[in-house]
Amino acid sequence: MSRRHEVVVRNARVYDGRGGPAVEADVAVADGRIAAVGSVEGDADIEIDAAGLALCPGFIDVHTHDDFAAVLHPDMAFKLLGGVTTCVVGNCGMGAAPFAAAAGMAQAFHPGRELPGWEGYAGYLDHLDAHPPALHVAALVGHGTLRLDAMGGARREPTAAEMQTMKDGLHEGLEAGAVGLSTGLIYEPGRHARTDEIVELAAEMAGTGALYATHMRDEGRRLLESVAEAVEIGERAGVPVQISHHKASGRESWGRVRESLALIESAQARGLDVHADQYPYTAGSTILAAIAQNDGFRGRAGGVGAVEPGDVVIASTRAHPQWEGRSIADFAAEWSLSGADAADRVLAEEPLATIVMHSMSEDDVQTVMRHPSTMIGSDGIPSIEGRPHPRLYGTFARVLGHYARDLGVFPLAEAVHRMTGFPARKFGLRDRGEVREGAWADLVVFDPDRVIDVGTYEDPKRPPAGIAHVLVAGRHAVANGVQTPERAGRSLRRG
Ligand SMILES: [Zn+2]
Repeated sequence: MSRRHEVVVRNARVYDGRGGPAVEADVAVADGRIAAVGSVEGDADIEIDAAGLALCPGFIDVHTHDDFAAVLHPDMAFKLLGGVTTCVVGNCGMGAAPFAAAAGMAQAFHPGRELPGWEGYAGYLDHLDAHPPALHVAALVGHGTLRLDAMGGARREPTAAEMQTMKDGLHEGLEAGAVGLSTGLIYEPGRHARTDEIVELAAEMAGTGALYATHMRDEGRRLLESVAEAVEIGERAGVPVQISHHKASGRESWGRVRESLALIESAQARGLDVHADQYPYTAGSTILAAIAQNDGFRGRAGGVGAVEPGDVVIASTRAHPQWEGRSIADFAAEWSLSGADAADRVLAEEPLATIVMHSMSEDDVQTVMRHPSTMIGSDGIPSIEGRPHPRLYGTFARVLGHYARDLGVFPLAEAVHRMTGFPARKFGLRDRGEVREGAWADLVVFDPDRVIDVGTYEDPKRPPAGIAHVLVAGRHAVANGVQTPERAGRSLRRG
């Protein structure tokens, strides 16, 4: 007797997420998992004809700041419509707990929005399970949030008691199922942590499988020292390392990624588990305060490299929507100030303003992407009331359409691997990221000839083209390019 399936996708070119070539097959779904791959007989509640289309695992966005968006905007349309079925939140040292510290940081991305409140990572992940978003969420514990909770903005080493408070917070997160610890070493307050502090904390994770993810101390002139620090932390603490948004920031450092990639290779050759993620654009995005704190406009070029005022454009503000889309050079001209002073004046009124920063070379972006240590992560900032960097919507479609298909940076099967099976293995997401019998049915059906990002820096809030269907745990979350009311996401917990 043939089983009745929830969904059958027929005649697809199946990319399995492991990097092998596509095969023509049907894929059947039952009880949220993949029940069969091959030639599928029998009926289904939902039949999807994928003739001429590709099918692959749902995209795993390993670098997100969607901790609070998953609560405030549970439709998660800006990710789901681009084929993302799992977000790893808590990057760059900014986590979802302890709540009071987290809620303060959340104001930068969600100005004026109230959060419901939760107790620790257990409370956060339970909240998501009780109020499911449209896609899955795995969480990193944020070092900056732990530090803010333990010792405020203090610019010194922690006392023994403060260190213990941070360790307790980390263990609470790990026991709740967090997949690792992140740092943001250009940001307040994480930038005041020395290497030893991070080693001591990260060593608490040794043997658990949880990883250390880092927005490094300097992606500009001291890029290589920063990669060396990340590798050292992994080596001394005995944990895997994930280098966040690998890049060389600031014109004077362009080309250095060849050396930073070589450092990753040599660490791997010594047996260390070190990889990186990347978003496929030559502009970054962050809070304006981070550039000012690191003297980016004063040529002293701290963590972000030296940036020109014309290269930094306001993305979102709390009360000055008319500023969005204007560069710091525009303000400097209008106010007859230097770029640094104009930035300070913007910050006086909008301390949490976010910006888009044109700071990388296209050659470096492609060099990093081609390298086998690199997986894909959007780093999207979900300030959807403002004018966010278009990576929030378009990252995965841009890699598939622009870089793999149009520029031939790598084969489509490899591009799919970098956003599915590879990150699932690194982040310990069991039975995700692969198309095989028994794996969870998080799936994307897309048109390989048409898939492309559509949003621009001027008009970013547009879902990509060519993403036809998205299944989340077997539920039809996007049908013919249109989001359905399904909310099938859940918290993904380590172990
Ligand atoms: Zn970052």
